[in-house]
Amino acid sequence: MKAIQILQTGGPEALTLSDIPVPVPKAGEALVRIQACGVNFIDIYYREGRYKTALPFVDGQEAAGMVEAVGEGVDEVKPGDRVAWCNILGAYAEYAAVPAAKLVKVPDDVDLKLAAAAILQGMTAHYLAHSTWPLKAGETALVHAAAGGVGLLLTQMASAIGARVIATVSTEEKAKLAREAGAAEVILYTQADFEAETKRLTEGRGVDVVYDSVGKTTFDKSLNCLRPRGMMVLFGGSSGAVPPFDPIQLSVKGSLFLTRPTLGHYTLTREDLAWRAGDVFRAIAKGRLKVRMEHTYPLADAQRAHRDLEARKTTGKLLLIP
Ligand code: NDP
Repeated sequence: MKAIQILQTGGPEALTLSDIPVPVPKAGEALVRIQACGVNFIDIYYREGRYKTALPFVDGQEAAGMVEAVGEGVDEVKPGDRVAWCNILGAYAEYAAVPAAKLVKVPDDVDLKLAAAAILQGMTAHYLAHSTWPLKAGETALVHAAAGGVGLLLTQMASAIGARVIATVSTEEKAKLAREAGAAEVILYTQADFEAETKRLTEGRGVDVVYDSVGKTTFDKSLNCLRPRGMMVLFGGSSGAVPPFDPIQLSVKGSLFLTRPTLGHYTLTREDLAWRAGDVFRAIAKGRLKVRMEHTYPLADAQRAHRDLEARKTTGKLLLIP
């Protein structure tokens, strides 16, 4: 089968189109024929070697497709089932053998491409808005990179709860998308000082929660945007990793809370996985959650997809089609 392997970590050129054997499902695993793979920023961290795993490996952590065969002892799924998954390396390929307990069945009224586009970023937006800081109507959230994959979904979910979203983006085109997703205010953080703007927009009070996936270039100022006892949710580092940080700053800046959450810990149980994926797929099927899928590439063009994502050229989801 065709797969995108990393033989040596590095830049986009490290993504290598290879011919490798179709995996054989072990006990507890299902073999899935992949229809679409989601591209996520975390794929870049693995490609670069910022997140470590043994070489060589197939990059990608999100996909959807049809079960072809199952290993011994699998009762969660059967051949012919439509399934999606995330958080397991090996998705940039024509087939993957996946632990059956990590698979989610895709409802008939949700297209498999949509499922591949939404499962990782949708469940991320879900835990951020409903669990890390359970947003309430009337609260104000600052959402960075609001026109990105997670950003557009989080903005929609937060707005649906009745929270006021102040969004940051780099361009006017992205600003329009953030507004369409429900942002009440949009700041072009490449042109304006987002800290000063956020203070102005909240009349000096500060926001209840900051959802910061940009990291290095936004972290310090994001803390200054919070009201006393507000929550700083640092959930990514698209601009780079945040340097070491002195916790006394949390006291000085208003007895703040800081968390660095990750999706895996919010989908540890089958119940959590079913709850979050179920909510996301239902919202999509009912038209309450829109997934933007303007960037679709053949599997062989994975390098181009990574270059576009890193260059901040994309909005919403990127997909690879085997
Ligand atoms: P996005 O589609 O959001 O792409 C990243 C965006 O970040 C860019 O479009 C850009 O938006 C912004 N950005 C700001 N500075 C930079 C920079 N220097 N280089 C590149 N981009 C920059 O990606 P994803 O939706 O896949 O992921 C968003 C973030 O969320 C990532 O950091 C990812 O690691 C994290 N994440 C964390 C999870 C978790 O559970 N902790 C799960 C899923 C994602 P703009 O042009 O508007 O500035």
